[in-house]
Amino acid sequence: MPLIDGKKVAKEMRERIAHKVEVVKNQTGKVPGLATVLIGEDPASMVYVRNKNKTCKELGFNSFQHNLPETTKENDLLALVDELNQNDQVSGILVQLPLPQHIDSQKVLEAIDPGKDVDGFHPVNVGKLVTGTATLVPCTPAGIIELLNHYSVDIEGKHAVVLGRSNIVGKPVSLLLLNRNATVTICHSRTKDLPVVTRSADILVAAVGKANFVTGDMVRDGAVVIDVGINRVDGKLVGDVAFDEVEPKAALITPVPGGVGPMTIAMLMQNTLKAFTASIQPS
Ligand code: NDP
Repeated sequence: MPLIDGKKVAKEMRERIAHKVEVVKNQTGKVPGLATVLIGEDPASMVYVRNKNKTCKELGFNSFQHNLPETTKENDLLALVDELNQNDQVSGILVQLPLPQHIDSQKVLEAIDPGKDVDGFHPVNVGKLVTGTATLVPCTPAGIIELLNHYSVDIEGKHAVVLGRSNIVGKPVSLLLLNRNATVTICHSRTKDLPVVTRSADILVAAVGKANFVTGDMVRDGAVVIDVGINRVDGKLVGDVAFDEVEPKAALITPVPGGVGPMTIAMLMQNTLKAFTASIQPS
C-alpha cells in the first residue's frame, strides 16, 4: 500500500516538539504559550480548538482559551488581540476561522503581531512566504511539505498541480512548492480541461472541498497524490480524492482521515515553538 501515514509522522513530530519544550524549560524555566480565540459555537470550530488546547497540554505548552459569544463586537475582539500581543506568556495567537459575518476577518488577522501569527495569515508573513523568507508558514501547507520530505519525494523540477487557490491552502502550498523549485500549476473553478492538467502532475494536491472530486482518470500512473479535503458524506469523513480509484495508480497517496489532517495541529505546535524560541532570543 503506497500510503502516506500522516498520523505517524505527526506523532513523531509532536514527540520531538515535547522533547524540545522539556529541554528549554529546564534551561530557562519558560514554556511556549498558545492563545486560542473562538467566537461562537460552530461545532467543527469547537472541535478544532479543543484539539489544539489538548495538544498544548500534551506537549507541555501553556494554553490560554478565549471562548467568546457569537455577539462579540469587532472592537472587543481587536482589544483582546491587542492584549494577547502584549502578553509575554503568549507566544502564539490563533483566531479560529470562520468569524461571524459582522466581524472583518482580515482586519482581525492584520491586528495580530506578525511574530505571534502562528497561522501564518498576516500579510507580513504572507509576503515573506512569497519572497521565500518565511518562518511562520500556514500550518496545513507546511504539513504537506513535511510529509513530502518525510517520504523523500523529489520536488525539484517536478510538475506540481494544486487544485484550489484559497489563502489557507491552495496559494500557500503552491508557493512552498515553487520555493522548492517545482513547476507549479494552480487550478480553480474556472480552469479549462482540468483532467488534462491534472494528468500531467507528478505531484497532485487536491484542496477543493468536494468529496471524491479527483477520479482515477484524472491521475497519471506514478503520481504522488495529496488529499487535503475534509468532507462529510453520510456521517463519514472523505477526502477530495476518490481513493479507491486513485490509490492503485499513485506512487504515494494520503488517506482521509489520517493523512494531511493530523499534520495541521503538529505544524501549529511547531510554529508556536518557533515563535516562542524567537521571543526568548536575546535581542
Ligand atoms: P475553499 O472553499 O476556500 O477553496 C476551494 C478551492 O477549490 C477554490 O479555490 C475553488 O476555486 C476550487 N474549486 C471549487 N470547485 C472547483 C472545481 N470544480 N474545479 C476546480 N477547482 C474548484 O477551501 P479550502 O482551501 O479552505 O479547503 C479545501 C478543502 O481542504 C476543504 O475540504 C477543507 O475542509 C479542507 N481543509 C483541510 C485542512 C486539514 O487540516 N486537513 C485544513 C484546511 C482545509 P475558486 O477559487 O475559483 O472558487
